[in-house]
Amino acid sequence: MIDGFGNLTELYNEVILDHAGSPRNFRENLEAGRKAEGYNPLCGDQITVYCLLEGEKLVDLSFTGKGCAICTASASIMTQTLKSKQIAKAQNMFERFHKMLLGEGGEDELGKLSVFAGVHKYPARVKCATLPWHTLQSSLKEGDRVSTE
Ligand code: ZN
Repeated sequence: MIDGFGNLTELYNEVILDHAGSPRNFRENLEAGRKAEGYNPLCGDQITVYCLLEGEKLVDLSFTGKGCAICTASASIMTQTLKSKQIAKAQNMFERFHKMLLGEGGEDELGKLSVFAGVHKYPARVKCATLPWHTLQSSLKEGDRVSTE
């Protein structure tokens, strides 16, 4: 691989492996008002994010699908981190998360999300880590309504 998987431990740390192996909030939510599907053709990651809003607050977040370890762990930690946060706060965290993935720092303020700091050395993996966030964003913007029928 051109993007150099020489030092795997740097990329796949313990927290990432834990979340990839047993992802949190990994479930459908047919009562969620919003959902969106995300696909990363570079890697084959394909996920669906479900989002239940109460006003501007993300009261419940969950996801399903098939992704690589980075994508699955990112979705898992994202749902944990953003649950019960305001949309504006979530957007702000995504901006900072994205900056960190571009190698621009800021991991000190990102709590658990900082486990992805090493991803910036693997450009092909950045899209895996951001896919859940982009998918969440598109659910908030376009708001594909979940059909309960
Ligand atoms: Zn991936």
